[in-house]
Amino acid sequence: MKKMLFVFNPRSGKGLIRSALLDIVDIFTRGGFDVTCHPTQKPRDGYRKILEDGMDYDVVVVSGGDGTMSEAVTALMQLPEMIPVGYIPTGSTNDFAASLRIPTNTLAAAQDIVDGVYFEYDVGQFNRQRYFVYVAAFGIFTDVPYETPQDAKNIFGHAAYIAEGIKRFTLGSYKGMDITVEHDGITETGNFLLGIVSNSTSIGGMKVPMRDGVYFDDGLFEVTLVRTPTTPIALQQTLNDALLNRLTTKNFLSFKSAKVKFTSVEPIAWTLDGEAGGAYTESLAINCRRAIKLIIKPDDKTDQQQEIDSKTPAQPADTNNKYLHTALFEDQNGIEI
Ligand SMILES: [Mg+2]
Repeated sequence: MKKMLFVFNPRSGKGLIRSALLDIVDIFTRGGFDVTCHPTQKPRDGYRKILEDGMDYDVVVVSGGDGTMSEAVTALMQLPEMIPVGYIPTGSTNDFAASLRIPTNTLAAAQDIVDGVYFEYDVGQFNRQRYFVYVAAFGIFTDVPYETPQDAKNIFGHAAYIAEGIKRFTLGSYKGMDITVEHDGITETGNFLLGIVSNSTSIGGMKVPMRDGVYFDDGLFEVTLVRTPTTPIALQQTLNDALLNRLTTKNFLSFKSAKVKFTSVEPIAWTLDGEAGGAYTESLAINCRRAIKLIIKPDDKTDQQQEIDSKTPAQPADTNNKYLHTALFEDQNGIEI
């Protein structure tokens, strides 16, 4: 039998997993898995468990919210081999699941894992030590999580996020951040209200209608920064552009890139997948292409992804994790950029 480590947050989504747990384990067992259950005991416990024991299993399945999945991915990125990971979402926002069209019904999600195929998904590496699976963001209200995490998660969005951020801005209330942005040999400076580095079609439950399409395995982030408006007219234009998803006007800096660096005099406070990510004067986001092996149902790829796959040969199943590194999740010091 294949060995499965099933890590779940028993408190996520008001304990949603509890009533379904027996049926979920039954689905996995009937599907040919020898299941080891690990209810997480505290924050970062899922991370620790997967980091310590992940290599002993053929498959890891995670259940919880986006934060639980983010922890799991951070651990999986540090293992010497890519261990396939399935996800049963039970959190409040579940952007990652929505982006991948993973069912919110726990039993359906479990069955999809049993029937599933592997999909190699891009992971964001942040300052060479942390990881994010769908979004890294900073700005006018991304410092809110330090005080009220759930509110921040619920308002997190991309077009929605940007519009919300601008709505909260009143002229003179916030000086913005002077930031130098470097990507693809281009250096741009500006004063910005907020910024988002994402690899997701859903943030805050909102679809992300990027003009050129969003691909989960193209090695590229979608990056958008909002310039700080200095006049009432600029403020209104910026808000209108955001509401209409016109993110390429002069009010924004918007591009796709595999690697982007942000430099500022004042530290920028980041959130990674909706959780506090630390504050830095230098921040580097690198797209680790096809770095984790997600288990998704066979028909879950979009036509766009299938088109990309047809152009790019799949990697062999036993590919070593080329993004292996040894820094600990908690270690915030000694970053080399
Ligand atoms: Mg992408």
